[in-house]
Amino acid sequence: MTHSALPKVLPFAGSPLDRCENLRRDAGAIRALQQSDRALFLPFWRGELFILSDGTPALLQGMALEALEISDPGPVFLGIQGKSEQPWFAFTLTETASAADDFALNGLGEWTNLRAAAPLLSKEDMAIIGRASALLSWHNRHRYCANCGEQTMPAEGGIKRECEACGTEHFPRTDPVVIMLAVHDDQCLMGRQAGWPQNTYSALAGFVEQGESLEEACAREVGEEAGVQIGTVRYVLSQPWPFPSSLMIGLIAEARSEKITLDDELEDARWFSRDEVRAMLAGTHERYNAPMPFSAACHLLREWAKNE
Ligand SMILES: [Zn+2]
Repeated sequence: MTHSALPKVLPFAGSPLDRCENLRRDAGAIRALQQSDRALFLPFWRGELFILSDGTPALLQGMALEALEISDPGPVFLGIQGKSEQPWFAFTLTETASAADDFALNGLGEWTNLRAAAPLLSKEDMAIIGRASALLSWHNRHRYCANCGEQTMPAEGGIKRECEACGTEHFPRTDPVVIMLAVHDDQCLMGRQAGWPQNTYSALAGFVEQGESLEEACAREVGEEAGVQIGTVRYVLSQPWPFPSSLMIGLIAEARSEKITLDDELEDARWFSRDEVRAMLAGTHERYNAPMPFSAACHLLREWAKNE
């Protein structure tokens, strides 16, 4: 049996855009890029992107924006695409229904959430759109200053927000999440939450808390959720995860106990043999399903399953 090696760049990473960090501070340069007829604009509405009937994401040119109701923060600058030197921006329509009613591409596709759209997208588009989605979602949730409560304003092409009242700068956040396979003999531990697709199991995961190393977060989460004790922890992979804005840190951990004691978070957890995991990944397991193919969990399972 052959198994593909872990890709160097996981889905949602590997953006082909140059983020042009130095250019961002030059408001005139950003404006000129935005007005360039090469510029491409990625539309969002209520957190969803517009997928055309051929399965590709809609991209607009600048002139098409004039008729649209665009929400704070306006177009955010994503970067410039290498050889074509195309500047990329993303924006969100105002949340009203009428903003979508007037959308120029109505009838040619539909608004789709990123989880549903991801399997349709090229790796490059996944990386660009994942970042755009995370960034716009952050803007949407940070309209007011966490320091003084006044309104904040977008700055530097949308890479930050500023509070004029108290002078605080706010930067987009990325929340670290450990996602891990506890392994014992030739078995790994997976769980499922109520509400997931039927019979789907995945690696356990949880946010890293303050004052905690990755190893400690891994041991705490597996202990809390499944009652299993953890020994040595090995780093395997990382993946930006734009739901809404996490960094998944994939670990394989030595389990030092086998008995499972569930807490409220999981509906079930159980040990799976390597052969079972291989069958789940291949879609041939008679009962259980693997997590989404573009997820860190799935790549972690592939990495473990390919070893003897
Ligand atoms: Zn403030």
